Amino acid sequence: TSFGFKEVREEEKSQMVGKVFSKVASNYDLMNDLMSAGLHRLWKDRLVSKLSPFPGMKHLDVAGGTGDVAFRILESISSIRRRALQDPVNDGLQEETQIYVCDINPNMLNVGKKHAIERGLGEDKSLTWVEGDAEALSFGDNSMDGYTIAFGIRNVTHIEKVLAEAYRYDFYSFSVIPPLGELVAGDRESYQYLVESIRQFPPQEKFASMIADAGFQKVEYENLVGGVVAIHSGLKI
Ligand code: SAM
Repeated sequence: TSFGFKEVREEEKSQMVGKVFSKVASNYDLMNDLMSAGLHRLWKDRLVSKLSPFPGMKHLDVAGGTGDVAFRILESISSIRRRALQDPVNDGLQEETQIYVCDINPNMLNVGKKHAIERGLGEDKSLTWVEGDAEALSFGDNSMDGYTIAFGIRNVTHIEKVLAEAYRYDFYSFSVIPPLGELVAGDRESYQYLVESIRQFPPQEKFASMIADAGFQKVEYENLVGGVVAIHSGLKI
């Protein structure tokens, strides 16, 4: 990959990503709120509402270290269950929901686990935390109903590999938000890396066509805040 300030080889990119997210893990939430003026919360709400989670869903959230997307999915499913409990016809609601949060960085997974405990979800059997690489996931083909990756795909070395992996799972979805800026205060190299990774990410139309090339159908994207961020989605039919 050719970066403006220097050549960064592929293995260096993944090392850099590891380094950057290990450094920022403890400040990640604060940084996210500051950099997006709190808007990332609304964008994640929007992502999950487009996903339309359902009770019994098996879902994989990749690059999901903070748990932000997983918690929203669980909350959405809980509210469906609460409503359905008042309905005499509520078949299928007993099926077990499983949300897998996969991240390459154990420090980021620890941030998510801490949040889970704070939310009273520390012992929740619907949540599973898995260390893994978006480019080579360990789950079986067609083992999921949904797949999301939020603020994560720009960090990977081979976008096509990630898309091919996503396509191994069933059904739905994609996700968020390539071009948003992030700052890592006091660390020029990490900061430069993040800025470059944002600048180099393909524009919305191009990314949509890459998703379609991976095999997804009905590929769409929605720009938020005038295209500062975008939610891409696609179906495996
Ligand atoms: N999805 C969360 C959110 O929106 O709050 C976290 C986003 S954070 C900007 C990017 C995450 O991608 C980090 O937790 C990082 O460890 C993870 N990541 C980077 N490269 C990855 C890869 N190849 N496979 C899986 N996760 C990766």
